Amino acid sequence: MRTARRAWNLLHIDSQQARRLAERAIASATSDQDPAAEGWARIALGYHLLYFGTVAEASRELQRALRCFDRASDRAGQLLASAALSRAMWRAGRVREALDAVLPLREEGVRVLRHEQRGVLLNTIAGCYSALGDSSQAFAHMFEALRDAGPKRGHGFDTVLHCNLSHELLQIGDYDHALQHVDQGLAGCARLKNARLLGILLINRVLCLTELGRASEAMPDVAAVLAMPTDASGRGSIEPAFETMAIAALRAGDMALGGELVERALAGGATPIPDERVERVTAAALLSLRRGDAAGAVRTLRAANTEAARDDVEGLSVRIRAQFFNVLSEAHEAAGDAAAALAALRQAQRPARAQSQLASRARYQAAALQTELLRLQHRLDENDARRRRTERARAELAAINAQLSRKIEEVQSLQEALRQQAVRDALTGLYNRRHLGETLPALVALARREDAPLSLVIIDLDHFKRVNDVHGHAAGDRLLAAFGQLLSQQVRRSDVACRYGGEEFCLLMPRTAADAARRKVQQLLRRWRAMRFELDDDEVLEGLSFSAGVADTLHAPASPDALLKAADDELLAAKREGRNRVIVALRPDSSATAGCRPMRA
Ligand code: GH3
Ligand code: MG
Ligand code: MG
Repeated sequence: MRTARRAWNLLHIDSQQARRLAERAIASATSDQDPAAEGWARIALGYHLLYFGTVAEASRELQRALRCFDRASDRAGQLLASAALSRAMWRAGRVREALDAVLPLREEGVRVLRHEQRGVLLNTIAGCYSALGDSSQAFAHMFEALRDAGPKRGHGFDTVLHCNLSHELLQIGDYDHALQHVDQGLAGCARLKNARLLGILLINRVLCLTELGRASEAMPDVAAVLAMPTDASGRGSIEPAFETMAIAALRAGDMALGGELVERALAGGATPIPDERVERVTAAALLSLRRGDAAGAVRTLRAANTEAARDDVEGLSVRIRAQFFNVLSEAHEAAGDAAAALAALRQAQRPARAQSQLASRARYQAAALQTELLRLQHRLDENDARRRRTERARAELAAINAQLSRKIEEVQSLQEALRQQAVRDALTGLYNRRHLGETLPALVALARREDAPLSLVIIDLDHFKRVNDVHGHAAGDRLLAAFGQLLSQQVRRSDVACRYGGEEFCLLMPRTAADAARRKVQQLLRRWRAMRFELDDDEVLEGLSFSAGVADTLHAPASPDALLKAADDELLAAKREGRNRVIVALRPDSSATAGCRPMRA
């Protein structure tokens, strides 16, 4: 498929290479059973044959391409192959039929095809209109094609369009503009290896210069065309248009060259193309006239008189007809027949008038197109501006959003910090008494519902006042913070450790009975006693202790206050009994002694 596409793209850029690639792609696509690739290879070859081969060869290849595209359901390929088959019809002289076949493809083609492919379709329509003498439609389609096949993605097709535009401008007698497009085409041709296109452009320049009365300036182009290689038939691939060059040579006063070219033109035999037919007769007559045989010229012209006088010959352009009658008038004048000369001039006037009507219609069409193009450009610009505005707004919105999310994150972390501040004690990092007040009733209720014990421990650091008094308040703070850290490290995640106030701490232990709680707190006491603090005043503090009272919901009445009171009572007992110990409240009815029986750590 890649090779086939490359063949298509090279069609105008390097026609010989395009043909080689197309043939290679056909061979491999056929063996790979790839109908789409085969279609594209065959359509490239088909177009090549339209330019360089016979109509029959081209049609055969294009029919095969169409069948491949049918099999591959490739709509773009189907459209292009059908357009090419219309072009083959038109080349065979069936112009009206060709237009009827290609026009219905237009609407879908404009939607489905892209760039130079769309240009190729539009150019085929333009060619049919041009051959039918409808220059304004031809121009409309060519300008549209030129818009699609810009120099960047036209694959050389824009050069073809400049060539065709110059031809159409020639038909309406606008030789100066035609010359401009010829020169643009020739500039494009310098980048292409396309002898045929170069030949046609040179012939068009010869035509322009001859019509502008500057035939002698056209002689280098004539020489260049004649120097180009031809095939065996002598006309072959580059269509040298000997009759056109003959007229230029004769107008430039080069009788020898003119004579030779007329001979070569007539050697081509009968032609189905009316313009060619009439122009050959005109060239032959002009040669006779230049050789001083005015009567012979008039006789020669008679062969095409009827055809040139008719307005309805398909493919016979007004320019060729006007040229015919002008030469006829010259011949009559040279033969001394003034009346016939005048009559011929009058006949020349009719196609000339038709030509000027065509020109004004085409100019109107061009102006309308220009307006349409400007309007489109304006719309494009507007869209562009709108897109830029939208992009800017979107970027601003994104920035605002980012800022907003940052703010929200800030607020959220602030809220979290505030929440923590509200429930945490700053010095120790433990929960505060307020949090204890909120949590304790919930945990008591839960314990009751789950029928699982909840232990509550109150811990009071021993002789703490002394630490403050002897080592200073800062040392006291440091100890409190250290105890807070020890507590949070040692308890479970489900436990709630609070600073109850001053040097007093409260620990809630869900699903833990007093006995287990006591073991835990005793372990804590051992660790606290083992801790050693080096103070700023070079003193060392060690062997610190605390006293603790433990109560659980199994032994004490299951209410927050009762639980607190029970634990506090045990703490007081611990202090009373000499500190540095943990005492547990027992269930009132579980022991022989009434009330709480303390247990020593
Ligand atoms: P006891 O063994 O009977 O509990 O003796 P104690 O000295 O620990 O008890 P007391 O209630 O007499 O003194 C508690 C001291 O704790 C008094 C107070 O200065 C000190 N304190 C309370 N809160 C803080 C605090 O946040 N920082 C510091 N450094 N000291 C505190
Ligand atoms: Mg105290
Ligand atoms: Mg104390």
